[in-house]
Amino acid sequence: MSTPVTADTYYGPSFAALLEQDPAIGEILVSELDRQRTGIQLIASENQTSPAVLTALGSTLSNKYAEGYPGARYYGGCAEVDKAENLAIERAKELFGADHANVQPHSGASANQAVYGAFTKPGDTILAMSLDHGGHLTHGFKVSFSGKWFNAVHYGVNKDTEDIDYDQVEALAKEHRPKIILAGGSAIPRLIDFERFRAIADEVGAIFWVDAAHFIGLVAGQAIPSPVPHADVVSFTTHKVLRGPRGGAIVCKAEHASKIDRAVFPMMQGGPLMHAVAAKAVNFAECATQEYRDYAARVIANAAALADRLGTHGIRPITGGTDTHLSLHDLQGVGVTGIDAEKRCDAAGIVLNKNAIPFDPEKPNVASGIRVGSPSVTTQGMGTEQMEQIGDLIARAVTETDGTPEHPVAREIRDSIGELLTAFPAYPAP
Ligand SMILES: *Cc1c(COP(=O)(O)O)cnc(C)c1O
Repeated sequence: MSTPVTADTYYGPSFAALLEQDPAIGEILVSELDRQRTGIQLIASENQTSPAVLTALGSTLSNKYAEGYPGARYYGGCAEVDKAENLAIERAKELFGADHANVQPHSGASANQAVYGAFTKPGDTILAMSLDHGGHLTHGFKVSFSGKWFNAVHYGVNKDTEDIDYDQVEALAKEHRPKIILAGGSAIPRLIDFERFRAIADEVGAIFWVDAAHFIGLVAGQAIPSPVPHADVVSFTTHKVLRGPRGGAIVCKAEHASKIDRAVFPMMQGGPLMHAVAAKAVNFAECATQEYRDYAARVIANAAALADRLGTHGIRPITGGTDTHLSLHDLQGVGVTGIDAEKRCDAAGIVLNKNAIPFDPEKPNVASGIRVGSPSVTTQGMGTEQMEQIGDLIARAVTETDGTPEHPVAREIRDSIGELLTAFPAYPAP
């Protein structure tokens, strides 16, 4: 469907030269652009960044070594990258109303590593949400550095509300006196009560850290309350709802600024990815617009519409719905596993992921749930009417197909999706 001419639009004018020099890689760039254009992308942690962000990412700033911080580098020739990093820092502080910003973390996991580095020593106790209830690997899960190097204690959700069990958080905090109390995760559909977390942290003298990787875009778009006034430190990714380049960042209170900066560099990282830092600056400016605020509001309306519609088909939303960009669904009512649902949707042109649900009877690699998110389809301009249509298509894929692309219902679904994508294309030709 795509040609090198349209790929030029998004990969820059030098794309034709790359295709000639290295057709193997050039063709992957084209076919991945095609893949992103030809399916319904419902992975809650993905989005479609702007051509301006892609251009900054593909720039010569990638060539520059800039260990250190603006005005205090270990290398010469940093005048231009200093300007880019200062702009990224100023824009992040303004966007989030933060005292201090560090825009160098290579990823969300790197940002989190730096937060641990700033406030803890190996062996310290941390309190965070368990992975199987919606947390993240870097929140003290066994296979992660965070689980190996720290004594991680985990809270979960309440069995009835399926939302964070704040009483359990408080009880565990009092029992274990953690250095850090961490809020946030990868599969939390509801707003987090930051005031309650702050009060618990104050009660036991812990640092209150929010990992806002998933929902920071909704904060930037002023669609949900911000953790920044309440938390000592907020880490996040820049590539999820926020819609910037793949990367991480940290904002914090002034009193923690130098600790955080020293933990990012030199404690955890070497030279920053200055092309990504420039792309983060581009993204932060995009997020400060009314257009982005409208986008963030539509992301939530769309996620709610999709969650409700799946619910009407017996694919029950955990907690009964969502306040954010994602919902988590229990498939036990329709008797399909998460892994089968993922496979069936994939064959029908719908990209989503299996996900453990709280108190899941299945193993994580099978799972009883799916997670769906609205950031990408909302970037494509879809609204609640399209979400209802997508909800119907997911239900059909999950319950009426067998995971093969040849299945007649899978074909029908792909045809419907083709029509949707003609009306709401990703990366449209200008
Ligand atoms: C995505 C995510 C991360 C990790 O981000 P990477 O860029 O993949 O390293 C960390 N924490 C949470 C809560 C996340 O959702």
